[in-house]
Amino acid sequence: MRKKIVAGNWKMNLNLQEGLALAKEVNDALAADKPNCDVIICTPFIHLASVAGVLDSQLVGLGAENCADKEQGAYTGEVSAEMVKSTGAQYVILGHSERREYYNETPEILKEKVLLALKNGLKVIFCIGETLAEREANKQNEVVKAELEGSVFNLSAEEFANVIVAYEPIWAIGTGKTATAEQAEEIHAFIRSVIAEKYGNEVAENTSILYGGSAKPSNAPELFAKPNIDGGLIGGAALKCADFKGIIDAWK
Ligand code: 13P
Repeated sequence: MRKKIVAGNWKMNLNLQEGLALAKEVNDALAADKPNCDVIICTPFIHLASVAGVLDSQLVGLGAENCADKEQGAYTGEVSAEMVKSTGAQYVILGHSERREYYNETPEILKEKVLLALKNGLKVIFCIGETLAEREANKQNEVVKAELEGSVFNLSAEEFANVIVAYEPIWAIGTGKTATAEQAEEIHAFIRSVIAEKYGNEVAENTSILYGGSAKPSNAPELFAKPNIDGGLIGGAALKCADFKGIIDAWK
């Protein structure tokens, strides 16, 4: 059975003290009221080691929001997958639309990042999703399929087992405009069918596919009730413990 997951993506928010306080608050809330899903917090690089120290790793997983496409060496300012792993983190988000758009991360670069993350024992939360123009042109299926083919379908089935897919329609990120549960379910089912074509039904059935884009406590229950939506990748609502916990509780 595939995992149900709620993952937070803090993006470039919260200084170290604020981040530590939030991580502690989330950990305490979940220790007091055990979640019915896997919970992951993805933080800026500089928070990782300290946040690892305040999380019960049995209760809350930890991830980075990016890693380098090079193994090591003279790449000033970059952070390698091995460095991420050495902090105690177990996950890394790759392919987020903000990185594709603002930092010119191409499918080829992402392919390298994915390989290095997996080589270093990190699980990858791989993001895909279409722009508003692509949705309006009804191109969302071909866009997400090409994104998978471009950066993760080179993996073996064993490697792909360490990939969590996050469908994040770009028009729904930070806009307050959520995909309807029906729209999300339709494309999640398509994504699963594409994975099944590539790796077979068993792999597809075991792959967690998360929804991301203005998810909040009020819409999470409807989204998570859909058979192909296995949880969420949460931006804004992950910055407040009550909201994040509210989404986690949608699995109860
Ligand atoms: P919001 O939840 O703020 O829309 O962000 C979603 C997202 O990009 C998570 O990676």
